[in-house]
Amino acid sequence: MVGAGTKVLLRCCAHLQRSLIRRYSTDPQICIVGSGPAGFGVAQSILKHHPTARVDMFEQSPVPYGLIRRGVSPDHQDVKNCIHGYERTAVLPRFSFYGNIEVGSALPLVELQAAYHAVVLCTGAQEERKLGIPGENLRNIFTSLQFVGWYNGDTNHQDVDVDVGGRTVVIVGHGNVALDCARMLLKPTHMFKDTDISPVAYNKLMESKINKVYLVGRRGPLQMACTRKELSEIADLEGVVTKVDTDVFTPAVNQAINNKDLKRRKQHRLVKYLMKVANIENKHISKEFEIKYLRSPHSITTNDDVTIAGVNFNINKLEGDNVYEPLVTSSRELEHISCDLLISCIGYTNKQFDPNIPYKGGKMVHDNGRIQPGLYASGWCRDGPLGVLADTSNSSTQTSTSVLNDIDDLITDKPSCRGYNDVLPTLEEKNIDVITWHRWQTID
Ligand code: NAP
Repeated sequence: MVGAGTKVLLRCCAHLQRSLIRRYSTDPQICIVGSGPAGFGVAQSILKHHPTARVDMFEQSPVPYGLIRRGVSPDHQDVKNCIHGYERTAVLPRFSFYGNIEVGSALPLVELQAAYHAVVLCTGAQEERKLGIPGENLRNIFTSLQFVGWYNGDTNHQDVDVDVGGRTVVIVGHGNVALDCARMLLKPTHMFKDTDISPVAYNKLMESKINKVYLVGRRGPLQMACTRKELSEIADLEGVVTKVDTDVFTPAVNQAINNKDLKRRKQHRLVKYLMKVANIENKHISKEFEIKYLRSPHSITTNDDVTIAGVNFNINKLEGDNVYEPLVTSSRELEHISCDLLISCIGYTNKQFDPNIPYKGGKMVHDNGRIQPGLYASGWCRDGPLGVLADTSNSSTQTSTSVLNDIDDLITDKPSCRGYNDVLPTLEEKNIDVITWHRWQTID
């Protein structure tokens, strides 16, 4: 016997089931381009919030995880741990990974758009920026993209020939990538032993003679792009002294860091920390980390026309009333810093992914991640190369919400999309050696 209450419940369930079936009679076919934190963030959010959506992820490299694998330092395994979450997503039945496919050249974006209800671009913004000064083609000069790719085992940068046989390194830039590079050169090599550092870089760093690293920025301490935590990872290193010319802590800087402007709190804490740790000598010091301010790279010098001998810097002045965003003026005066290795860490740029996608100020023009209905973007390719993982995660949540808000209309517009089955003929015709998740795991 079935009671009246149970009958009502069963009727409600049947109704719910019918409406779900009606709503999702065609399962959404969603394609994500790029397998870094933005791509996996969008995939996780869509799979969690939609009961039948299929997510296919295309990646140009045979290796997944984008910047997590290629960019995050080997000694930041706590950050790299998010890969375990991505691995759990990758084996879900409604998810597929297709590596070694370059969307754009091998597989045109328009073809993907025709095959899927929604395409989400999560391609990052890792185009290198060069200093653009004379001498940049000499030996032992690298961009952060090359140097970070080298120590992280990125297949594109394994032929980078880093010579760490000299004593002195100049790193240009005051951002967190500059600090990552400095730490890799200053930290005792045995501390990288149980990490995923490239064996080539590990063996080279074991032989390193480097004992002085300059971190050179064009503005002052209140304008440093790095964060206190990353700075402390170097300042706290045993045997390393952090040197700073204390003249940069002007009365204006001192006054600024003591006011209680909450918006500037991070910057104030960074400068206070720097004042505390700068120039503390002790007898066990074997390496120096010197932060230089108000220096813009002017030209690179050489003694033999082949290898770097040093860098000439213009000396700058900060002017104007705004102590946080001052005007920077350069004198003609030059300062030469001798060095054996130069790494420029001056950020990355955002290449236009497709001529039909509008950009403004290096960022995609979008509305909550929606470039147009059916085409979305998340992470650095959308907002430019700034921000930490938490920012990327917020961007992915926002974009996936836009996709799911639009999905019913997109299905109505294109009821017969077959996702991967629709692009397979192109991949076969071009003889593309697709790396599935299973194959990637074998490679790994
Ligand atoms: P960034 O934070 O934008 O720093 C770039 C640095 O290069 C700035 O100091 C900038 O100076 C300088 N610069 C730019 N153009 C220059 C030029 N022509 N000459 C001299 N200096 C120049 O870039 P990033 O270090 O590549 O980092 C990218 C993003 O990743 C950041 O948001 C960063 O926080 C994040 N990240 C985080 C971590 C972490 O959390 N552990 C690690 C790595 C990266 P100005 O300020 O004067 O422009």
